[in-house]
Amino acid sequence: MLRTELGIATFEDLLYHYPYRYFDRSQITKIGTINGNTEYAQFAGTLINLGTEGDGRRSRLVATLFDETGRIELVWFANINWVKKNIREGEKYIVFGKIANFNGYYNISHPEIEPLNSETNIPGRQPVYPTTEKLRVKGITNRSFAKLTTALFEKVKLHDIVEVLPANVLSAYGLCGRYYALLWLHFPDTELHEQMARRRMKFEELLISQLLIGRLRLQHTVQQGWVFSKVGDNFNTFYSDHLPFQLTGAQKRVLREIRQDTATGKQMNRLLQGDVGSGKTIVALMSMLLAMDNGFQACIMAPTEILAQQHFFGISKLLEEMGITIKLLTGSVKGKERKQILSELADGTLQLVAGTHALIEDSVQFKNLGLAVIDEQHRFGVGQRARLWTKNAHPPHVLVMTATPIPRTLAMTMYGDLEVSVIDELPPGRQEIKTVHRRDATRASVMEFIRKEVDKGRQAYIVYPLIEESEKLDYESLMAGYEQVKIWFIDDKYRIAMVHGKQPADERQRNMARFVKGEANVLVATTVIEVGVNVPNASVMLIESAERFGLSQMHQLRGRVGRGAEQSYCILMTGNKVGEESVKRINIMVSTTDGFKIAEADLEMRGPGDMYGTKQSGVLKFKLADIVQDAGILEQTREAAITLLNTDPKLTLPQHQPLRNMIARQGKDSHWGKIS
Ligand code: ADP
Ligand code: MG
Repeated sequence: MLRTELGIATFEDLLYHYPYRYFDRSQITKIGTINGNTEYAQFAGTLINLGTEGDGRRSRLVATLFDETGRIELVWFANINWVKKNIREGEKYIVFGKIANFNGYYNISHPEIEPLNSETNIPGRQPVYPTTEKLRVKGITNRSFAKLTTALFEKVKLHDIVEVLPANVLSAYGLCGRYYALLWLHFPDTELHEQMARRRMKFEELLISQLLIGRLRLQHTVQQGWVFSKVGDNFNTFYSDHLPFQLTGAQKRVLREIRQDTATGKQMNRLLQGDVGSGKTIVALMSMLLAMDNGFQACIMAPTEILAQQHFFGISKLLEEMGITIKLLTGSVKGKERKQILSELADGTLQLVAGTHALIEDSVQFKNLGLAVIDEQHRFGVGQRARLWTKNAHPPHVLVMTATPIPRTLAMTMYGDLEVSVIDELPPGRQEIKTVHRRDATRASVMEFIRKEVDKGRQAYIVYPLIEESEKLDYESLMAGYEQVKIWFIDDKYRIAMVHGKQPADERQRNMARFVKGEANVLVATTVIEVGVNVPNASVMLIESAERFGLSQMHQLRGRVGRGAEQSYCILMTGNKVGEESVKRINIMVSTTDGFKIAEADLEMRGPGDMYGTKQSGVLKFKLADIVQDAGILEQTREAAITLLNTDPKLTLPQHQPLRNMIARQGKDSHWGKIS
């Protein structure tokens, strides 16, 4: 039962089944002072009116406890005979439990009850354990847990608990020993001890993950990689003759970093961070040309068909005059065409390919893949990234590009093994996007505004939410919205296109292409357009039901406009009634366009688990630690991990043995071993 419900199979598991809060049982509350807000309380008083009510299976035992300020009813529905035998009218008791309000009378069902006399030991803080409804019904309550752990600590003594942290780490960071940490986590005698215990166990959790990352990083640095020894014709010709603009200083710097990495003979694992619109694509393309110059193949992988197509078209166009071919491989490329591409990749005649997950299927073999660019990384599972490794003798150099900036704490935990490049400069001439919040009531003026923009020759996006749980309703409102938009733009000179995930791929592609080419003035869409789509002429992004979007999603969508020289606008449309959290998100959007600030706020509001699809990866699963709240501890563990690995890279010293064992165990459980 404990095993199926909570995964507790051994005493050790029980030791790590931490309480999530404590009852303060050092206080005795006067019965007369309880009110609607009292949750749990402890009373001392005299028991009277003991008796059974109801009959048969529904009977219950009731009693009243009174002190000098008031009275409260106690109720038992189970174990009645046993309770009856152990309590007596007229005696004094100390009673603890959850206060319920029944028809205006306060009561406690199944209270903890103990005779009150000179020997009564008033407990201090009492642990409250996570449990499940199923267990409670079976009579395994919080008290059962507390009894089990109490018994456990009668057996488990100081020397039974192996200290995993080296003594110098304990003293450098002022941490308590492991035995006391566990003891105080379950039974903190003071608040200070509880804090010490928590800090210590959080430190341990985070240190282990930082050591795992640190070791991966070390592995990368010894991992053999292809050598890109020269900058050749492809790169140089493109740079001097076909680059449509001047590179920004930041783009140049990142290219230099990539160039340095790939020349060393070690495998590159680089994370390219840059806000939406900062111009990551061109950096990717030029890195791919560098790979070609050195006789290697290169691929760029995107999370959706639309994005992969866009990279394909965009790069094809840029390389057109140079006579370089790139092909597209996605799930919808089938039959003869697919066969042809596969054989060209295998024999090396095709050097550049753009695609989706289809690129990492087993059937796809490269002759000599030298560079893999992964765009909009967070949609890719960690495991998928790892599969690129198996494509040839040496792993390819890997350039991971993120769609939104990653807060430092997340970067440290999720990508701590990667080198980081940042494009912190937008291409020149960009104007800040004006963002406003509008309510349904003002729709007419909003549409009027969009029409004016369109009349100036601009294009507009209108985006509807789509979430799986309410998919059907969402599609209905998308369709209804589409009909509405057609009415607002009823004049013959306007063209409206629509894209959504239920359309057949070719239809979606056609509609998207109409917008990209400027044939459609307005694009009505779901979030399939979210990442990467690039139409510089678009100047308005209208987000419908904005209250339902997350921060980074809105930031992504907003990044679709403001890509040209024109002033651009983002309009966040909501109903008239909007929840507090949504208002907070919308206000953040209105107040800043800085992707790093938005990412930080998002992380704070949502927690790391929901972000970046990391929930299933195990990378961010900590029992106690929270990388947002415990950012300070995280920094310390990073520092400690670096120091540890500097002196003992493989953790082979005897004092590091327990740590090493722990890491070996945890490393197996997560997908860590294979990241990127
Ligand atoms: P993201 O970083 O979001 O992927 P893109 O690579 O799609 O951004 O670039 C956004 C837009 O900026 C594109 O239209 C691109 O052509 C343009 N761009 C990129 N770099 C520069 C530059 N140095 N100067 C002018 N425009 C640029
Ligand atoms: Mg992009």
